Amino acid sequence: MKIVTVVGARPQFIKAAAGSREIRKEHQEILIHTGQHFDDNMSAVFFREMGIPKPDYNLGISGGTHAQMTAKMLVGIEEILIKEEPDALLVYGDTNSTLAATLAAVKLNIPVIHVEAGNRLGTLDSPEEVNRITTDHLATLDFCATEDALDKLRREGLGDRSFCVGNIMYDSFLHFANQPWVNSNILDFNDNKVNVPKEYYYMTCHRQENTYSDEPLTEILLAMNSLDAPTIYAVHPRNHERAKRIVENNNFNNIILTQPVGYSDSIHLTKNAKKIVTDSGGLQCEAFYAGVQCVFVLDFVVWPETMVDNRNQLAKADHIDILKKLRKQQTINPGYQPFGNGHAAEEICRIIKEWERKRH
Ligand code: UDP
Repeated sequence: MKIVTVVGARPQFIKAAAGSREIRKEHQEILIHTGQHFDDNMSAVFFREMGIPKPDYNLGISGGTHAQMTAKMLVGIEEILIKEEPDALLVYGDTNSTLAATLAAVKLNIPVIHVEAGNRLGTLDSPEEVNRITTDHLATLDFCATEDALDKLRREGLGDRSFCVGNIMYDSFLHFANQPWVNSNILDFNDNKVNVPKEYYYMTCHRQENTYSDEPLTEILLAMNSLDAPTIYAVHPRNHERAKRIVENNNFNNIILTQPVGYSDSIHLTKNAKKIVTDSGGLQCEAFYAGVQCVFVLDFVVWPETMVDNRNQLAKADHIDILKKLRKQQTINPGYQPFGNGHAAEEICRIIKEWERKRH
């Protein structure tokens, strides 16, 4: 088969690292990068480090409103699909790149394969939720990371096209977590190499809900600054200025601000952290895989499977609430692994093959 895969943002590169490796064993893959994330440390580093094939097309589309970005991508992707005439389109997750690619493909009668389908926050206030619901319903094959996501799709009447295959991010996690931590390249805002302290907390925070003004991020950093070890905060480029200003103005000298780190660094920072505080969907799962306790700063549960035995707890962007959750201790049931066996990409390819066979 000829499969066009569309990626655009950091978590999609991480998923494509596992996906493309497997897909290319049997199929011809054309990779489109929409350009949604473009800085070297948000994009190119993942392609280099994770062995992701070079994109065949880069649309260079980023910034603007949701409508502007989605509309430009829709036009750009449609042109490529008309030229390439693929047998299927494959998309990951819930970004505007995913939505645009899906809309372009279905209008051309190209079947859509959606990896990481079925996740629901339960509110359309989240732009990603809109992308997820639309993509799930337009796709021909929906691949879910967990039984819970599959159950949600069944309840939406999509059971016949949906499969639980495990989390493809777990494939990538296992691949890299089992390698030694070499060539660490964690840089501060002045491009100086950061020496990782023996004990530290690892934090990321980039969602609109926590970074639209100084207040929520100040609360989160106030909590982190008062802990018994420094916090390494890998800052998304979008929040660079705000994070710097808050840390300087409040004299938060127990916080180490860094530029976005590469995947291997992120995984090893995760594995060796005392605890993790984040609003990232991906990082909370990686904390879970690594058995490191996580506090998730958001009003909504993203991965319900992780919210057991204090392994991952919701907290408000409020320093008292965050510290309260950080003081709790987790317990780990080693037999509990709701994200599959780390072979999601293989399972996806097996089901695609089966589907293709039945079609002809
Ligand atoms: N990540 C990374 N470098 C960083 C911060 C995060 O490689 O500086 C990784 C992290 O380990 C996880 C993924 O990026 O695998 C999460 O992406 P992001 O937070 O951008 O998106 P979300 O998970 O919120 O969709």
